[in-house]
Amino acid sequence: MTSTPDPKATPGDLTELKRVLHQVSDLNAAASLMSWDQETQMPPDAARVRGLQMSTLAGLSHELFTAPRVAELLDAAADPADETDAALVRVTRRDHAKATRLPTEFVEEQSRAASEAHHAWIEARQTGSFATFAPHLERMMDLARRYADHQGYDEHPYDALLDDYEPGMKVGQVRATFTDLRDRTLPLLRRIVAAGDATDYSVLTRPFPVDAQRRFALRIAEEAFGLNPGFSRLDESAHPFQTNFSRDDIRVTTRFDERYFPMSLFGTWHETGHAMYEHGVAARLERTPLSRGASLGVHESQSRMFENLLGRSRPFWERYFGVFAQAAPDVAAGQDALSLYRAVNRVQPDLIRVEADEVTYNFHIMLRFELELALLEGTLQVRDLPDAWNARMQEFLGVTPPDDAQGVLQDIHWSAGLIGYFPTYTLGNLLSVQLLDAARQDPVIAQEVDRAEYGRLREWLVQHVHQYGRSRTPAEITLAATGKPLSADAYVAYLEGKYGEIYGLN
Ligand SMILES: [Zn+2]
Repeated sequence: MTSTPDPKATPGDLTELKRVLHQVSDLNAAASLMSWDQETQMPPDAARVRGLQMSTLAGLSHELFTAPRVAELLDAAADPADETDAALVRVTRRDHAKATRLPTEFVEEQSRAASEAHHAWIEARQTGSFATFAPHLERMMDLARRYADHQGYDEHPYDALLDDYEPGMKVGQVRATFTDLRDRTLPLLRRIVAAGDATDYSVLTRPFPVDAQRRFALRIAEEAFGLNPGFSRLDESAHPFQTNFSRDDIRVTTRFDERYFPMSLFGTWHETGHAMYEHGVAARLERTPLSRGASLGVHESQSRMFENLLGRSRPFWERYFGVFAQAAPDVAAGQDALSLYRAVNRVQPDLIRVEADEVTYNFHIMLRFELELALLEGTLQVRDLPDAWNARMQEFLGVTPPDDAQGVLQDIHWSAGLIGYFPTYTLGNLLSVQLLDAARQDPVIAQEVDRAEYGRLREWLVQHVHQYGRSRTPAEITLAATGKPLSADAYVAYLEGKYGEIYGLN
């Protein structure tokens, strides 16, 4: 980016490399801040120019990061003795290689195709016409295959896609873990459905004013889960998310429905889990490629832990029912901690992934994983996808979507080219319980969690998961924190214990 040639990079000196990485990080943070503003504050007419501005920042960041100078600096960096520097060089080399393997024309084609596919997907959802979206999905699959070819892989093209979201994870491991999970939780789901459910769930749809929902959700996020207005804020957006521009500048969003409070409450606590992960990354990693969560799966383990393992636990509702009743006296009338605990843990096989409970959720993921894998391999044709989708919904959950909008068209991911992304949701669920079990090996943490106090648990998570950022791989974090590789064991035991009791199966 200068007119005079750079001097030769000094072997072993990381000063210049770090300066470039800080600049890249700052440009990305500026673009993320614009994106957060776009989703939460921006007046609608600003969208067109905002898109151009964000695209300029993204272009500058990419140009800076993929410049030949960075390759020189990485070559000269050798293998630093300092552990953090070594991780920085390792991860940056990997990111740099990925970013430079793609020809510019391919990146542009991908971006155009995704934009067109997105519009087609919106139209297809409105009209319920899969045929409108089908040619775009074919193109996204073709691009995904070519992406994998550009990046390279040892055994399966899906590995190259998965690696962007879950570094180091392989399709064979996902397949084996998911098969095990399915074989052990489908019988549980069948027993729950067979047991029947006479609970009155109308409490969930009683009116709970939005302002009061916000205050309650935030109070719990702060008191129980450690969110702090000093480094975070909560806003509203169409789709909840967490984003951050440093570990001390974190934005959480949620959405509200006056007649369905679980959406805002559990949405806020879910995103708070993501937020606390980013806040827990060590300050020394700030403004580098290491300063965020290790993977989407590890990230989801943190959000699911707060949302489900803690927020939907019995001790939690026993401790906070009084606060809830103050915030929502009309909703709480005639209820107690146990009845509310029961209501927010309803198991109901249904059509929509994002509304699914803990028992059925993973089936939504497993079917998407199987289908996108088959599409990528070419053993399933796009035109046959809706039938394949509906058949699996019937097989797993015993429901058939009345139309494709409530079936194969419900998620944005495939239209955005996010193929290989879905498994991370279930990997995160599995890891959430495996981590909590490991933390509970400390009897003090176990006693606290059983009283819905999470201070020491949060310290444990910072120590064993958060602080490392991307300097350790998901597999390394999992093994070091829990003493074993990721598996379905802990999650299956958790579901059997919790829902066996709720549905009186034992
Ligand atoms: Zn999440």
